[in-house]
Amino acid sequence: MNTKINKINDIISKFNIENVLTDSRSLINAERSIFFALKTATNDGHLYIKELQAQGVKAFVVARIPDGIDADGSEFVIVEDVLAALQELAADRRNNLPDSTKFIAVAGFGGKTIIKEWLSEALGRQYRTARSPRSYNSQLGVALSLMKIQSEAEMAVIECGISQSGEMERLEKMVHPEMVIISGIDSEKGDFASLDEKIEQTLLLAREAKVIVYPAELDDAVSRFVPERVLKISVNIPPDADWIERDRLLTSEALRYLKVELPQEIVRPLETRLNVSQGVNNCLIISDRFSCHSDSLPSALDFMRRRKSEGLKMTLILDELKGEEYTEEIDALIDNAGIERVIAIGKDFKTGEEMLEALSLSDFSREMILAKGERGGAVDRLAETLQLRHHETVLEVNLDSVIYNFNHYRAMLRPETGMVAMVKASGYGAGAFELARTLQSHGAAYLAVAVVDEGEELRRAGITMPIMALNPKVTNYDSLFANRLEPEVFSFDMLDEIIREGEKRGIMAYPIHVKFDTGMHRLGFLRENISDLCIRLKETDVVKVESVFSHLATADCLDMDDYTFGQLKLFTDICEEMYRGLGYRFKRHILNSAGIARFPEYQFDMVRLGIGLYGVDTLGIPETSGLKQVSSLRSIIISLKDWPSGTSIGYSRRTILSHDATVATVPVGYADGLDRHLGNGKGKVWINGKECPIVGNICMDACMIDVTGADAKVGDSVEFFGPNLPVDFMSDALGTIPYEILTSVSPRVKRVYFRE
Ligand SMILES: *Cc1c(COP(=O)(O)O)cnc(C)c1O
Repeated sequence: MNTKINKINDIISKFNIENVLTDSRSLINAERSIFFALKTATNDGHLYIKELQAQGVKAFVVARIPDGIDADGSEFVIVEDVLAALQELAADRRNNLPDSTKFIAVAGFGGKTIIKEWLSEALGRQYRTARSPRSYNSQLGVALSLMKIQSEAEMAVIECGISQSGEMERLEKMVHPEMVIISGIDSEKGDFASLDEKIEQTLLLAREAKVIVYPAELDDAVSRFVPERVLKISVNIPPDADWIERDRLLTSEALRYLKVELPQEIVRPLETRLNVSQGVNNCLIISDRFSCHSDSLPSALDFMRRRKSEGLKMTLILDELKGEEYTEEIDALIDNAGIERVIAIGKDFKTGEEMLEALSLSDFSREMILAKGERGGAVDRLAETLQLRHHETVLEVNLDSVIYNFNHYRAMLRPETGMVAMVKASGYGAGAFELARTLQSHGAAYLAVAVVDEGEELRRAGITMPIMALNPKVTNYDSLFANRLEPEVFSFDMLDEIIREGEKRGIMAYPIHVKFDTGMHRLGFLRENISDLCIRLKETDVVKVESVFSHLATADCLDMDDYTFGQLKLFTDICEEMYRGLGYRFKRHILNSAGIARFPEYQFDMVRLGIGLYGVDTLGIPETSGLKQVSSLRSIIISLKDWPSGTSIGYSRRTILSHDATVATVPVGYADGLDRHLGNGKGKVWINGKECPIVGNICMDACMIDVTGADAKVGDSVEFFGPNLPVDFMSDALGTIPYEILTSVSPRVKRVYFRE
């Protein structure tokens, strides 16, 4: 046995270590923690050692002891590769468990978390069963899962995920499963050299196993790659089976081998994500609908602690634990996580109904609330009611959809092409700051705003990435320079002004973006200006051309490609001439959202993504299908009345009901940005799965909806546009474009951000 691992084991027993810590933000119980200083693409654990020492951590596994660290009083084990050391430790831990613990590993692409959960749920009714938490399936996640397994466990179900060659070999060494279940392997090769390699690598997990369970479509691969002595259970999946049916068949075959039944009630979709949303009275709600077990509690508590913010009390609302008693250990866990208020069913309230009756909205204020309970249960229902969007008119912005759309476009481009994310007009109405923060962390190259003030606000909010300001009639050069906002320059006047202002302040090589008009006929230099422009630019060292760009007028007009190609060709020539004139390279960009989807061969060095980022498909071509709408305008019904046919609704009696109707009043009016032309049947909203017309004239702060047949109640949610009612429905009804709808939602409507 490796001496380093022995040494770590000695430290673990010496300090009575209970926690393996790999992220300093997850620290609880410092004295009983050992910190592994991992280095990832974006972070380095070694940077946090000092801080952790100050908080009382005494044991560290590191690749080096950084300068300025006082090693006295702490135990440091220096290893070559910190992750590998953790993995060896995990393997050692696994090997020292009694032989009676059976290891089952689930791998594959899609569905493995569900199979792991169903399997452990079913096994748990007969055996003491350990499972990897949530989807802890990576090189690190698997090691951490193994470290948590207690010696009493009779079964251990471990999820194993890989994304490139070499990873499964390491996982297999750690887990060394007796039984392997493969959920399936899709036909994308991903980061593997080939699809064949991806399959071979996945199946490595079974090389020392006794039995493998897999879908029959892998018959051929399994016979090629899995050793002969391994028992092979091939499962036929009917071609029309949905994913639930598929996972159910695989799980029950695995269980049949283990002589355990799959209880029907277990088979249901599983929610593995945590949703964060704004709540009433300045609360923040984290809802966790994952199966309610004490072993899924630590990761949820950890997720919460990382979002801890000043002034918010930490509250946990916990549903009844499934098939478990509420123990002192659970109390200690909750306590250690820094939870200040606990509401537990089975402890503080006998039943969920009792809790729902006892608590109301006013019982919560300035709290970060982790609500853990399965969909539809009492805790989930309480969490729903606490969400702000159920009480006010809001523009709900789904940041996950932003990331999804961003990646959707990124996949159409070369990896090195820069993405400029257009967050002008307050992020097309969605609010620039939250979007900027999201995009900054997902690899956008630039943000683009329309005016200097918008850029200044982003800087003040802590956005550090490059920002270009696209329409800067600059009145405040101090702010422009101080905030490092890079202006678009579209005329000689403007160029002269920025040079003059820069000279005054002794500025050198300030980045500017030179715009050419190639056919939009709005702003920009013309081709014939190039020689004068280059002369002017070469005389000064105040500014430096960071990029040259232009804008397409007809990228989304499928019948005007000749015009677009004319622009693209002219731009190509302009860039050549500018390069010859200036003598140095600059970035080039011309494509907007529609341009990226249609003319990716003209991506040059960067592209400017606007409307597509917000999930609006203006083209209706395959490349842009599947985008996710980011913004939803929602409100609630505040009043309901039945009226007989012939009744008039609203100002000036412009709607006379032609049938007996139920009419709802909703607090959204033209002052919220709801165009008055949508009244009297022209616009519609979505209530309880049904499209309902707006009736009567729209008022300043309210409108009326014919909800006949929608089974509506006061308090029901009303969607004006969103996932069920794409914004183009509304823009079409008004004869305008989605851009105008999105940017017209009034600032008085609260923006509520949502992410998973
Ligand atoms: C708004 C804008 C874009 C983005 O256009 P979309 O059609 O929303 O993708 C790109 N470039 C410039 C100059 C813009 O003003």
